[in-house]
Amino acid sequence: MNRIAVYPGSFDPVTNGHLDIVGRAAQVFDEVIVAVSKNSGKQPLFTIEERVEMLNKLLTPYANVRVGSFFGLTVNYARLHKATAIIRGLRAISDFENEFQMALTNKKLMPEVETIFMMAQADVSFLSSSVVKEVASYGGCVGAFVPALVEQRLRQKFNKNDQ
Ligand code: ADP
Repeated sequence: MNRIAVYPGSFDPVTNGHLDIVGRAAQVFDEVIVAVSKNSGKQPLFTIEERVEMLNKLLTPYANVRVGSFFGLTVNYARLHKATAIIRGLRAISDFENEFQMALTNKKLMPEVETIFMMAQADVSFLSSSVVKEVASYGGCVGAFVPALVEQRLRQKFNKNDQ
């Protein structure tokens, strides 16, 4: 049986924390679909196309990982792609409440899909896209937090915004 997992998120932009989780998921599942959610409540920095493009470039080393995007419910996307699992990363305790609620809601909506939580390696587990954006917006170095491609794109965005 081909075990497919969907890893949904905003990925605005992808960080080394996200990539750590993708690497773990790719070892456990036959196929992983990293799915960029189009329904972010927050004003995103990168467009969906930019986020998908960065992910595609960064995830080429993984033969069993592909990138997609979706609008609406994660469970509908999972059903469409015959996924049996939704991957979520857990950082600090602060993630727990939201994730707990979402996992149980999704279980009600689609009982045949399981939410699997993974924890990133300690040195990247504190990272969030919003902190990375904040540091980059003030000209701080984010080289330890994101891949070089993302660092470069962040620099371009904030330089452009300054003009
Ligand atoms: P969302 O808006 O759906 O939370 P994010 O892009 O912020 O989208 O996160 C997508 C998933 O990746 C979430 O499950 C989040 O907890 C997880 N994640 C993000 N950063 C990290 C990290 N540094 N370590 C572990 N998991 C992470």
